[in-house]
Amino acid sequence: MDESKYKNAEFDARLEALENQPDPPVPDYVQLTLSLCPTNSAKCGWTGWLLEAAFRRCPEALKTSTGDELMSAITNQTCPRCGETVYRSSVTKTFVPTSN
Ligand SMILES: [Zn+2]
Repeated sequence: MDESKYKNAEFDARLEALENQPDPPVPDYVQLTLSLCPTNSAKCGWTGWLLEAAFRRCPEALKTSTGDELMSAITNQTCPRCGETVYRSSVTKTFVPTSN
């Protein structure tokens, strides 16, 4: 990884602003999908949970899959071991964070 792009004053200022937000936006719930790397199991075989989406509840119905606000999140279908595109199974679970 090229870390030089993270070693500058502009990045440091943006990071500090992000980390010091008084009330950072947090999802009310996230959806995770059980996923499988298609690579031969002897080479990789990773299975695990892929972030499908993060939502924040809102009073009005929006044009999203749940009607709530879709939050920015990384939902890449990339295997964390080998970098192949993973297959998303039909098993999706919704998780709600606790207040602590
Ligand atoms: Zn893999």
